[in-house]
Amino acid sequence: MNREKIILIIDQMVAAMENQKEYLTELDNIIGDGDHGINMARGFSEINKKRDSLAMMNAGDMIKNLGMILVATVGGASGPLYGTAFMKAGMFLKGKEEITFEDFLQAFECAIEGVMARGRAVEGEKTMLDAMLPAKRAMEKEWKLTGDAKTSVEAGLAAAREGVQYTKTIIATKGRASYLGERSIGHQDPGAASFTFLLEAIASQM
Ligand code: ADP
Ligand code: MG
Ligand code: MG
Repeated sequence: MNREKIILIIDQMVAAMENQKEYLTELDNIIGDGDHGINMARGFSEINKKRDSLAMMNAGDMIKNLGMILVATVGGASGPLYGTAFMKAGMFLKGKEEITFEDFLQAFECAIEGVMARGRAVEGEKTMLDAMLPAKRAMEKEWKLTGDAKTSVEAGLAAAREGVQYTKTIIATKGRASYLGERSIGHQDPGAASFTFLLEAIASQM
């Protein structure tokens, strides 16, 4: 994966966050404060504004800077969390002009660790992690089995979507949705949903 490819993925992410703005906001309306779509769309539109300068950076810096833009421009929990995810991935990829699929998997692991540390959250708390962690496991498993990056990301995407469905069945214990307690059951987590859209953007360019 070279920098041209990464820019194409970023373009897809920008488009997805714009297209899913209302949907994600509706999800957050039910169990949060109704701004997740707005937050994500704002962050990615700022990224889009800096597209030309990002496009001149190496892969590591590009991804790290993307995270810094999210931290700086997105209010709410998701800005610092997704921001940290991209920053940690970018720091792991420091200096790289091209990213192998092994690099991608390790950078994704760093991203997840960043979210867990920053959010003090684990799997099963009805957050974005409930899509991220199954996606990571499925991608690693498929990669070991086939060595095929495309089918690995597709397997990750399927697992992330299952993770979103799983968030409907559990009580939120982190973030705003935790204020609802048991009433959060039956509703999916907006952050888990937004993660599947970001992973879809990656899958579309494999
Ligand atoms: P806010 O809740 O501040 O309005 P958003 O609505 O943009 O922020 O984002 C909410 C999403 O952030 C949730 O759906 C959840 O996936 C994620 N989230 C919230 N708190 C945490 C946490 N402590 N750890 C991991 N993810 C979290
Ligand atoms: Mg919100
Ligand atoms: Mg908010």
